Amino acid sequence: MTRSSIGANEERASLLIGGERRDPAAEAWAESLNPADQEIVGWYPLAGEVDVQRAIDSASEAFRRWSRSSVAERASVLRRAGDVMLERIEKYATLITREQGKTLSAARGEVQSAASFCHWFAEEARRAYGDTIPDPDPQRRMVTVREPVGVVAVITPWNVAFSQMARKTAPALAAGCTVVAKPASQTSLVGLAAAEPFLEAGVPPGVVNVVTGDPARIGRVLMGDSRVRKISFTGSTDVGKLLMRQAADDLKRLSLELGGNAPVLVFDDADIEHAARDVAALKFRNSGQACISANRVLVQEGVADRFVELLAAHGAELRMGNGMEPGVDLGPLIDRDAVDRVRRLVSDATERGARLMTDGDTSPEAQAQGWFYPPTVLDRVSGDAAILQEEIFGPVAPVLRFETEEEAVLRANETQYGLAAYLYTENLSRAWRIAESLECGMVGINDQRISVVEAPFGGVKHSGLGREGGHQGLAEYQNVKLIALGVR
Ligand code: NAP
Repeated sequence: MTRSSIGANEERASLLIGGERRDPAAEAWAESLNPADQEIVGWYPLAGEVDVQRAIDSASEAFRRWSRSSVAERASVLRRAGDVMLERIEKYATLITREQGKTLSAARGEVQSAASFCHWFAEEARRAYGDTIPDPDPQRRMVTVREPVGVVAVITPWNVAFSQMARKTAPALAAGCTVVAKPASQTSLVGLAAAEPFLEAGVPPGVVNVVTGDPARIGRVLMGDSRVRKISFTGSTDVGKLLMRQAADDLKRLSLELGGNAPVLVFDDADIEHAARDVAALKFRNSGQACISANRVLVQEGVADRFVELLAAHGAELRMGNGMEPGVDLGPLIDRDAVDRVRRLVSDATERGARLMTDGDTSPEAQAQGWFYPPTVLDRVSGDAAILQEEIFGPVAPVLRFETEEEAVLRANETQYGLAAYLYTENLSRAWRIAESLECGMVGINDQRISVVEAPFGGVKHSGLGREGGHQGLAEYQNVKLIALGVR
């Protein structure tokens, strides 16, 4: 759409380039829809090649000064950015709920998480230590220093659009890098809004730039420009692989946070009530649209009936609806395709013998009202069901049964993904044994709350490369340089 065809009362957002809000060169925008009611939330700008090029120019120019700024300045700006996020929590949470669908309380949690990344990396900036290396030659001294990698392209998904911007921008800025961000189209307005606190906190012009629009077009410019030294991407494994191939020619550094297929192992010595409550919280948060959500629930035969009954009861307690309404626990899925995909996975599983343990209306007619899918528990899912191999990204918990510990571990690792895994047992030796045997980047034992800024977040296998958060998160944006000095 061009400027003149957008209603006078509708929000028309701008790109953020060189510290200024700018309309795209082609004067084109696309509508962003509320997944709860398909109302227009606003219009996001469609950047062309020339806009992306300008954003890289600005980031490259700003890098010269920002990379040499004092850590005190960077820390102060990041602290302030986190504070601004918390001061404006209602404004940002409301936009997140309207554009992405999660409940207002979950959206507030997302803003708090984003702020925690700014506050954490404000502190980590001051701890970017190097090494002093014991030198074999008495006439030489060797140290390492950490330097910012350069301009970083930040590409983020829609499911946690606000916090993803902070998860990447905060450590990049702390390290002295500058950023050109490309948020997911479906949550472009949230992505653009997430940059505001950095500007308000005093980030110099050009340090944070945001472009929205056609992903392939923007991606090509970012990947083809040798001034962009790093790609920090969160999204699907397929796009992650594409970016890795595109990055090869220029040997850009990569952090890839990709898809997951998290197993949950529940043993017969577990606290079953706690396990069922925890799995329900994990599975139904953000309507299952999380990379670390439970994708396969493996339960030991002796406690399986009881566990399934409890899990289904937790699902039945949840109220589905528009996330803006008080009392709603479960918002919509992101779009019609997402609902269709989840329905296809559930049909495939039931055709192969799985039992539907919840009575939410999953018929196409029910979903004609909106992009909703009810909390669903499937029991006795057969090993060849597609739902066990694909990322569900919806509020469906497939339960499988196992007999022995060896079988559970074998089945848990039967996936190309390796992001998160969870296990429930009161046996400490078993917990440790299994945690070591699972092929993944994160294991929650009797606890599913693994995503906190203090700890490294990331995967192995097809779930990606690199870590966000923890002290490891800063190193992703730094090069290590050796300096050797001859002493005469
Ligand atoms: P996606 O389709 O891969 O998109 C992610 C981002 O990449 C979006 O900004 C998208 O833009 C952009 N993109 C798509 N094609 C591109 C291209 N050719 N060049 C450059 N950029 C391109 O993923 P999604 O559907 O938004 O998000 C869901 C996925 O993210 C799931 O697989 C989930 O597991 C994963 N995820 C992983 C983590 C983690 O930390 N491991 C966290 C959250 C989500 P458009 O939106 O414009 O297409």
